[in-house]
Amino acid sequence: MELINNKYQLSGGIDPLELCKKYGTPLYVYDAAVMERQYHRLTSAFKWPKFKAHYACKALSNISVLRLFKKLGAGLDCVSIYEVKLGLHAGFSVDDILFTPNFASSEEFEEAVQLGIKINVDAIPMLENWGLHHKDHPICLRINPHLMAGGNEKISVGHIDSKFGISIHQLPHVLRIVENQGLTVEGLHMHTGSDILDVDIFMRGAEILFDAAVKFPDLKYIDLGSGFKVPYKPDDIETDIEELGEKLSARFAEFCASYNRELTLMVEPGKFLVSESGYLFAKCTLVKQTTSTAFVGLDTGLNHLIRPMFYGAYHKIVNVTEPTFKPRIYNVVGNICETDTFAVDRRIAEVVEGDIIGFYNAGAYGWMMASNYNSRPRPAEVLIHEGKAHLIRKRETVNDLLNGQIELEI
Ligand SMILES: *Cc1c(COP(=O)(O)O)cnc(C)c1O
Repeated sequence: MELINNKYQLSGGIDPLELCKKYGTPLYVYDAAVMERQYHRLTSAFKWPKFKAHYACKALSNISVLRLFKKLGAGLDCVSIYEVKLGLHAGFSVDDILFTPNFASSEEFEEAVQLGIKINVDAIPMLENWGLHHKDHPICLRINPHLMAGGNEKISVGHIDSKFGISIHQLPHVLRIVENQGLTVEGLHMHTGSDILDVDIFMRGAEILFDAAVKFPDLKYIDLGSGFKVPYKPDDIETDIEELGEKLSARFAEFCASYNRELTLMVEPGKFLVSESGYLFAKCTLVKQTTSTAFVGLDTGLNHLIRPMFYGAYHKIVNVTEPTFKPRIYNVVGNICETDTFAVDRRIAEVVEGDIIGFYNAGAYGWMMASNYNSRPRPAEVLIHEGKAHLIRKRETVNDLLNGQIELEI
């Protein structure tokens, strides 16, 4: 969203204030052109001919968004059987889906096997049982290389006491099980968590995987996960995807030459593909001046965008209605009966009641982490596609809050 002639515009010249008038607030709006741009950045950065990008759909799994990525040629990374079902509903084939759950039930795995989905095994006990029931279903192994990715321990999953993956230190044990049971390992995988700043950390992880890969003769693909960082603050560093793509593709070519087969190189970003495409628009319900602080209160809260409270995430916030007013310093807060602070001491063009406030970078882990806490309905979602705005999810109503409840007459 850009400020053009003192008015905010979404892609195709669409006025966010018009969208808020038409669909109400709070409102999630996504721009398909930005998703396409990010997808093409990724696929052009990786020059390896057998490169495949899987979209990690837990970031944003609206069916229309899944369809868009399907059309672009992406595969799908799914962390629950329900995401798998959404992916199939959106038209992905079973070959395009990698199922990477964590502590999922055996029933969930059974269902994935029945569907014929590629499965990523991330625990030794599971591997030990695999041969009993599913010997003929090839598997991928999620390896934890124990890299500390990024600085935020809440979103890093690669450290030594992480619950994710099979420790690289347990590789000899893994190889014994694979051999004894005659399992086919067709893929190796790592995902060390969000927010990898440094291309070199990624390369180190890749080396660990390549070292392990030579011990598995049946590989078809190596999936290096994600954690690609996008800028949230104006001065934020982002993962240099072009550098990463170039270095990894070159190193992968070398590895394949020594492995004597051309494998598929996979990555599976969520945030990188959708974060910047999304905005959350909310209405200012009240400006409240206390003895110390000016609060801008909104008709949304941690029930709709929890990242600031959950991860300490920074989201750029602007006054969409009056972008040219003199900036003032505000704490921006939600309407939930919790301390749901979106931002502290933030400079925003002076806000009055009724103004529309816009959050940037709300495409990933925004609506998806929304809840009905305080019994408030979740927002509508709009997708701007080929210059036109389409409602892709209705705003919930009180009926959605009642739906599924079995009422006792008490
Ligand atoms: C969440 C997740 C991703 C995507 O992470 P981003 O930081 O959004 O890119 C990829 N792979 C797996 C297994 C995940 O759980």
